[in-house]
Amino acid sequence: MGIDLTREHEAHMPKRTLMENIATKIEACHKCDLWKQRNNAVPGEGSLNALVMFIGEAPGYYEDVKGQPFVGAAGKLLDNLLSDIGLSRKDVFIGNVLKCRPPENRAPLTKEIKTCTPYLDQQIGIVKPKIIVTLGRYSTSYIFSKVGLKTEGITKLRGKVYEIKLFGFQISLIPMYHPAAVLYNVKYKDELERDFQLLKSELEEYQRKSIDNNKHKMG
Ligand code: URA
Repeated sequence: MGIDLTREHEAHMPKRTLMENIATKIEACHKCDLWKQRNNAVPGEGSLNALVMFIGEAPGYYEDVKGQPFVGAAGKLLDNLLSDIGLSRKDVFIGNVLKCRPPENRAPLTKEIKTCTPYLDQQIGIVKPKIIVTLGRYSTSYIFSKVGLKTEGITKLRGKVYEIKLFGFQISLIPMYHPAAVLYNVKYKDELERDFQLLKSELEEYQRKSIDNNKHKMG
C-alpha cells in the first residue's frame, strides 16, 4: 500500500517541514470525537533521521497536558530502558497510534484507529526508520495487519524480530510489551528488558552492515 509522500509540491520539502505540517494538521484535527476533550494533541517527537521508531498506543493524562509522548510513569520507564542500551529519546522517534487521549485512558476504538493512523503512516514515511518497535497490542496489531501478518497476543509475538516491507521500505519490526504493562505487573519487566537487548543487537547488526557496505563502496 502506498503512502502519500509523492505529491509533487511536497517532494522537495525538508523532513522538518513535512513533520511540522503533519503536526499542525493533527493539532487542528476534528476527524473523530477525541478532539472535544483534549488539552493538547500529541503528534510525536524525536529525531527525524532516527534508525528506531517507537509506536505506543495513545496519549495518557500527562501526555495530554504537555502535548508530548511518553512523559508520565510509562515514559520514565521507557527513558530508563533506552538509557540501559545507550540511547536517549532524542536518538529515536516516538509516536502513537492515536494522537489524542481517549477519555479515562480507555482503549482506542477501531474507528478511531482507522481515522487517526494515516498521520502515523505519513510519519513513518518521513522518518523511514530501519527498526520499528511497537509497544503493546494496539500498535503491534496495527502494523501486523498492515503488512498482512496474522496478529496474535503480544505475549506470543514479542521476543522476535519480524522482517517486513512497509510502504516499500525494508523494516525490522520488534513488538514489545507496553511499558505501562510492566508498571501494572512486574513479571513482564525481565522480558521487556530482554527485548531492549534484542533491539540493541539489531541496531549493532545494522551498524555493522552499514560499515561493511561503505567499505565495499570505497573499494
Ligand atoms: N502510553 C502510550 O501508549 N503513549 C503515550 O504517549 C503515553 C503512554
